[in-house]
Amino acid sequence: MKRTSNAQQLLQARYLLRNPSGKIIETPHGLFKRVAKHVASVEEKNKAGWEGTFYDLMVNLHFLPNSPTLMNAGLPKGQLSACFVLPVEDSLDGIFSTLKSTALIHQNGGGTGYNFSKLRPRGDRILSSGGTSSGPIAFIKIYNTATEHVKQGGKRRGANMGILNVDHPDIEAFILAKSEGNTLQNFNLSVGITDNFMKAVSANADWNLINPRTGEATKAIRAKSLWELIVSQAWKTGDPGLIFLDTINKHNPIPDQGIIQSTNPCGEVPLLEYESCNLGSLNLSKILKTDNGKRRVDWDMLEKTIEASMRFLDNVISANHYLLPQIETQTKNTRKVGLGVMGWAEMLARLEIPYASVEAVELGEKIMQFIQSKSYAVSESLAGERGVFPKWSNSVFHPNRPMRNATCNSIAPTGNISIIADTSYSIEPLYAVGYRRVGIMGNKTQTEINPFFVESMKALGLWTEKLKSEVLETGSVQHSKMVPKELKKLFETSLEIPWQYHLSHQQAFQKYTDNAVSKTINLSRETPVETVSEIYWNAWEYGLKGITIYRDGSKADQVLQACRLN
Ligand code: ADP
Repeated sequence: MKRTSNAQQLLQARYLLRNPSGKIIETPHGLFKRVAKHVASVEEKNKAGWEGTFYDLMVNLHFLPNSPTLMNAGLPKGQLSACFVLPVEDSLDGIFSTLKSTALIHQNGGGTGYNFSKLRPRGDRILSSGGTSSGPIAFIKIYNTATEHVKQGGKRRGANMGILNVDHPDIEAFILAKSEGNTLQNFNLSVGITDNFMKAVSANADWNLINPRTGEATKAIRAKSLWELIVSQAWKTGDPGLIFLDTINKHNPIPDQGIIQSTNPCGEVPLLEYESCNLGSLNLSKILKTDNGKRRVDWDMLEKTIEASMRFLDNVISANHYLLPQIETQTKNTRKVGLGVMGWAEMLARLEIPYASVEAVELGEKIMQFIQSKSYAVSESLAGERGVFPKWSNSVFHPNRPMRNATCNSIAPTGNISIIADTSYSIEPLYAVGYRRVGIMGNKTQTEINPFFVESMKALGLWTEKLKSEVLETGSVQHSKMVPKELKKLFETSLEIPWQYHLSHQQAFQKYTDNAVSKTINLSRETPVETVSEIYWNAWEYGLKGITIYRDGSKADQVLQACRLN
């Protein structure tokens, strides 16, 4: 029997259209046609030409939009965005009306982030009933349970980001919220960190916890002991991550629209309440050419791909169906999009540059700088053609730079679309050179070996069955006697790459990403807790917007995933 590829399996299970009796009625080409046609439908001139351009982008796997666009474009009331932030007000009405919005968004393929810090702490007074409040963690649990039971069109469960600020009275319970077994599995948790908190840790000072209802300090604790609690929990379970609120707001393109308090589930898009964002990723592994027998980055192709992709993403805002009027208003006010990348590790391997090298980090910076400057140029030219985003005159771009979009770039985890594109996740290193695992859709066991590794070994005449089983067994080539030194270095996997390089890649891409970078700093099982502290601290000093670590084996149900949730 012919083995079906991961991409085919995934497309069949979740993306291709079905008739009412569940039969698949679309081919992958048909899917790309449907999406291209819908996204080009908002063009005023040359619809057919743009449809062809968008189709080529996707069918050649040079660019893919986020999953909801692939799943829903062209369907009646097709919701196309992946990223949402919703408000959580300190009232039962507020909490439960947002829960209803969440259910609708999840049902239609989106992920939601919230900052729960406006909620009064557990045990605080409720004036109307004379009782006491259950506090934010109790409500996060309710959101988690609701998420569990709302499947996205029967396809996958939703994803959430839950943030609590570091000065909330329930912060210690929040940090510990995932310590018991498999709790809150549909949430990534991050502590909302301020620069003042980091200074208090540095000065070993006391830190006040403040009741958001009264504005009064309820307790003072050592900032350092809170830091240590965060770090030791992250070491144990992967959660919480950190979100650096002051850094995010320093880069807020429209400060007078309010302070940004949250990101979407995987952290790559800081958003205002009710804002949504649609993402797309360039497949770097395809943007290469060969010159005199040597592979190089194809900058011309990169530029052309960015031009079409940015136009595609701006069109999505207009072609989208909005589930709530507030979301439509906020989203169209700022027209944020997030063009990012996938296939970075594969591009590096093909260029024969090891991920753990200064050369790789420098190339990452150069590529992202190029992507950002070209994306901004496209947004500026779209502003000339279609007008600036409505809040432009309140933005940092006013008056010198007309822009169609308040933000242009995000680095998403590409948990699904990189499987469709058959390349490495986002800017992550290779996860393994080969593996046996339960199939993507939970069916029979599959084996897979990185095709470029096989190609490279074959070219040297060194590919053998023995090597194949060795790679499948260990996932690594580092201890193999059959693999030459240079190839070993090129095929280092996530856990074999020192954390410093994980972080410098994140930093390199963040430098030229106006939104944020979703990245997991993968650590080996033996990593000491102090290293987590060092990583989190460096992340703040480097000016990253958020940070997530994952220590091998620290979650019971570890899956092969680039992001914490999927
Ligand atoms: P994809 O590869 O499916 O396009 P990514 O893994 O790049 O998606 O994630 C991008 C964003 O999509 C996430 O930050 C989140 O906002 C949303 N997202 C991802 N997975 C889910 C999910 N299971 N449910 C809801 N939203 C999701």
